[in-house]
Amino acid sequence: MSKTKTHRTNVTGRKRKTGPRQRMLDACNGCPAKCCHDLVMHITKPRTRDDIDELKWELQYDTVRVFIVNYRWHRIIAGRCMYLDEDNFCTIYDRRPKRCREHNPPDCEHYGEFYDVMISTPEELDEHLGRKPAG
Ligand code: SF4
Ligand code: SF4
Repeated sequence: MSKTKTHRTNVTGRKRKTGPRQRMLDACNGCPAKCCHDLVMHITKPRTRDDIDELKWELQYDTVRVFIVNYRWHRIIAGRCMYLDEDNFCTIYDRRPKRCREHNPPDCEHYGEFYDVMISTPEELDEHLGRKPAG
C-alpha cells in the first residue's frame, strides 16, 4: 500500500542485507514489510461523470483499490517492490528512495487502520458517491 506519513505510502527502511540480519527499526519486527507492498498514489476525488467513469474502469481490476483518509483520496495498486527479497528484507537499504526513508513506524499500516473508507469495486464507488450504478 505506498505513500506524507499520514498517507501510509508504501515504502520504508527495513534492515540491512549484509551483516547480522537485524531490523534497523525494532518497531518493524514481526511485520512482513507491508509498506513495501502495494503502491499507493494520491488522486483527486472524482467529481465529473468522466472522472467517475475512469475510476470505475480502474476498479474493475482486482489489483486496484481506492482508499480515503482525512478526506484525501488514494489509489492502491497491489504489488511488491522489486528490491524486497524473499525474506522481506530491503536489498538496497542504504540507497532506498526518499519515500522509503520517510515512512516509519508507528505511523504506518502495520499499526492500525490507515484509511477511513476503502473502495474495492465500481459498485462500491457508486455507493460511496451516492450514485445509482449504471445499467
Ligand atoms: S512496521 Fe510499518 S514501517 Fe515497518 S515494515 Fe511494517 S509497515 Fe513498514
Ligand atoms: S526500496 Fe526497499 S524500503 Fe523501499 S519499498 Fe523497496 S524494499 Fe521497501
